[in-house]
Amino acid sequence: MSSTSDRQTSLAYIGLGSNLEQPQQQVATALEELDTLTLCRVTAASRLYASRPVGPQDQPDFVNAVAAVETGLSPLALLDQLQALEQRHRRRRERHWGPRTLDLDVLLFDRTPIVHERLRVPHPSMHERAFVLRPLCEIAPRLPLYEQPLSQWLARLDDDVTPLN
Ligand code: AMP
Repeated sequence: MSSTSDRQTSLAYIGLGSNLEQPQQQVATALEELDTLTLCRVTAASRLYASRPVGPQDQPDFVNAVAAVETGLSPLALLDQLQALEQRHRRRRERHWGPRTLDLDVLLFDRTPIVHERLRVPHPSMHERAFVLRPLCEIAPRLPLYEQPLSQWLARLDDDVTPLN
């Protein structure tokens, strides 16, 4: 990434998902591309996982992963970069919870809660999604979420998320 030596850096956790157009490739490529975003450096990446879709079941399974990104960007500037990356993957979304070529979510940004019309952090549904918590636990097992260990949140869920690599 570009130098961040004289800037304050933050640690963000990004959730990645895809279930269209070679989803494993979409996610693997996006993990590499996150490292090329302005003022962003990937410091850890989970394996890829397969998960059943949330909502409509008449769509392919998803491939998911989570990355830790050290960044000199503000939360909204990071969201802009992530949305531009989604667009470069020719993201198509015809319906809510429907198939998509690439979905990028800001899960956590330092320990800072954010309530903004474009961005809510912690991501509002991450605590109820095994396809987020399982890869996140892999790279940050001691990270707390709402003052409880991630593993406790994950233990409450039906974890049918399977590693692919
Ligand atoms: P989706 O792609 O369906 O997950 O939702 C995209 C929309 O959610 C965009 O309009 C974002 O501005 C908004 N959004 C709110 N919070 C977040 C977050 N933590 N990460 C990514 N997008 C978010």
